[in-house]
Order: sequence, then structure tokens, then C-alpha cells
Amino acid sequence: MALMKSWVASANSEESGFPLNNLPYGVFAHAGGSAHCGVAIGDQILDLTALEAASQLGLFDTRLFDRGGWNAFMAEGPEAWAKLRRWLIGALGENSPIQALLEPYMVAQSAVTMQLPFQISEFTDFYAGRHHAENVGTMFRGPENALPPNWLNMPIGYNGRASSVVVSGTPVRRPWGQVKPADADAPILAPSRRFDFELEIGAIVGQPSSGPVTVAEADRMIFGYVLLNDWSARDIQAWEYQPLGPFQAKATATSISPWIVTRAALEPFRAPTPPREGPLLPYLQEPGPMLYDIDLEVALRPEGKGETTIARTNMRALYYSPAQQLAHHTLSGCPMRVGDLLGTGTISGPERESRGSMLELSWGGKEPLTLPESGEVRSFLEDGDTVTLKGAARGAGYRIGFGECSGTLMPASPAAS
Ligand code: MN
Repeated sequence: MALMKSWVASANSEESGFPLNNLPYGVFAHAGGSAHCGVAIGDQILDLTALEAASQLGLFDTRLFDRGGWNAFMAEGPEAWAKLRRWLIGALGENSPIQALLEPYMVAQSAVTMQLPFQISEFTDFYAGRHHAENVGTMFRGPENALPPNWLNMPIGYNGRASSVVVSGTPVRRPWGQVKPADADAPILAPSRRFDFELEIGAIVGQPSSGPVTVAEADRMIFGYVLLNDWSARDIQAWEYQPLGPFQAKATATSISPWIVTRAALEPFRAPTPPREGPLLPYLQEPGPMLYDIDLEVALRPEGKGETTIARTNMRALYYSPAQQLAHHTLSGCPMRVGDLLGTGTISGPERESRGSMLELSWGGKEPLTLPESGEVRSFLEDGDTVTLKGAARGAGYRIGFGECSGTLMPASPAAS
């Protein structure tokens, strides 16, 4: 597929992550203003809320964009999703008959603040990256017990907290927690000293389910994807994770990028999961390629210093696709809701430079990382550090960009309570 041209000139360059091929959905606000639903095109946003309020949209019987989030539109289902995308491609395309009508509804991205693009119903985080699971397992339990016996048979996950999900740009405060230093007999209450990021992709469930769904059905339920940083306190995690998995270590915050990149926009970039290391039960087998060829990177910027790219990887490194994760999630009969968010788990590749967390990059602090652009050295995150996730699928002459998922670590509060 080639670049589709828009009358919005900034959308037609290869550097723009938001060409007509992309059309990601977000929620924005002017200072002091209310939250509007919009579509990114180049460096602009088409204000769908204002367009609908002025009765200039005329695509749907009811108002869908007046609630400050994309949930109502997602609930309308795949036909509505295709209808809006078709209309947008015509309306924002280079020979659009309604360019003059739309121009008053364009907003510069630089003039507004982005908010969470949808109301998060529930949040689940998986552990579907083979290299990440093996690296972390090696550090926590030793190489002989790195991969738990169930890992190659099903996607492992835990139920997280929707309340902890924040939009890119929201500061994150270093948490206090119960930790047990290696040389201590008893646990202590202290600010986490091994605070970390996790490079992930979040899948957004756009259709509900009330019983088990197949992998193919699960794929069709997914509305779109965002970048996701599952902030993690490794010292809290190491002490608490047995026997029931992560809890307080993962409850501080989870950042997501503000633009929902739709499944439709990513269609040309579908890619298969890596070869299976053992057979999967039929309910987990994929009927087609359900990962995407999305280049991912992590940048770290110490306060007041230059930014260094510390990791580069690709979504194709995941062992299980979001569709497989979602199908497994419903196996018990667990109902899924519109607005559920599913994190993939950390996406690490096989090389050191492709590891998606500080825990892996510094090998538990044993191999600290030097940041050439700032002259700093890191094992884990320091106060004032800004972590930025970036992602894009690359086509011929265009990119499907995810924008950025960024967050700055604030010092722990003076006391835990
Ligand atoms: Mn995670």
C-alpha cells in the first residue's frame, strides 16, 4: 500500500506519523475547555464533537461524540467503525468535496492537551513476550526455572487496575512499598529503589462478549491499539509476587499514548507469531497472522539533559498475539466489556539492545547502562527521568505512527501516609 494523500499538507510527508492511511482517534481539550473527540491528520485534529454538534456529520442516528471518550462509538460495532473510516478517508482526502466545510473544524495539535481517549473499563496485563519472560524468570528464579511449565501453553496474565491508567504526559510518583532487602531479616517500608518501565502495546476491546470467543472472534472485537508503559517497582514485586503474582508493584500507574491506532489502519502490517515451541490447544491456535510489524523504541531523558534511545524492538517478538490473549481471557466465561484494556506484556527481543525494561537492560542492576547523550549511568529509574515509548509501522513512503507515551518520575512523597 502507498501513501494516501490528504488536503492537509502536513499529513503527506513520510515523517508524519498521521497520514490519511492512519486516522487515529483521540480526545483533546483547549485550556479550560471540555473534552472533544477528534481524529489526527498530519499536525491537525478534525474536531468530531463540534462537527456532530453542528449537525454536519450526519453518519449516525444518535450522538456518539459528546461524551468525552470513544466508548459510545466503539459500542456501535464494526459496521459503524468501517463507516466512519470510509467517510474520513473521503472527507480528508486530497480531492474532498467538503474541504471548505471541514476547515473551520480543524484544530492544531500544538494548541490542545490530550486526555485519555476512552474510559477504561478494566485493565488486564499479560506476560506474552518470550525473551522478557525468560530474562525476568532467570533473574528471579535462576536459569533452570526461568520459564514456568505453563508458559508455552497459554498466555499468562493478571487482572490490573483500570483506575491506575493515565494518559501520556501525566507525572508518575515513585511509590512507597513493603520491600525486603537481600541482607535484611525482615521487610521494611521504603520508597521503591528499583523503579522501572515496561514497553508494551495495549489492545482496546471494542465489542463485548458473554462467553468464550475464538481467536478469530477476539481479533474482530479489538478496536485498536496504543503504546503502554506498565510502570513496575521491581523490589516490591520480588517480595510480593509469590504466590499470587504482581499487586502493589504494578498499581502505581500505567501510561498509554493518547491516540488509538485502529485495527483497520494496521491491516497492511499483519505479521505471524514466531514458530511455536510446542503445540497449542486448538482454542489458542491462530487462523491467520495476528501480530503487527510495529517498530518500537524506548528513550530515557534525565532531568535537564539529552535523551538517549535505550531499546529498539518490534511487536513481532511477542509469542502470543492480543487476539490469543483475549480468547484465553474469555475461556472461563469472563465477560469482556467495551473499553477493556489488555497489555501485551513487555516486548523484548533477543539482543541486549532490544530489551523492553531497565530490569533486563541493566540485568537486575549488575550491568548499569551508560547514556551517551547525558553522560549518566542507570540501573533503574532516577527521580526526574522521563521515559518515552515510540512506535510506528512503516509502509512505502508513509508511517502509521502511534505518537508518544511519555512520563516523568517524581520523587517519592516524604512519608508513606
Ligand atoms: Mn507488564
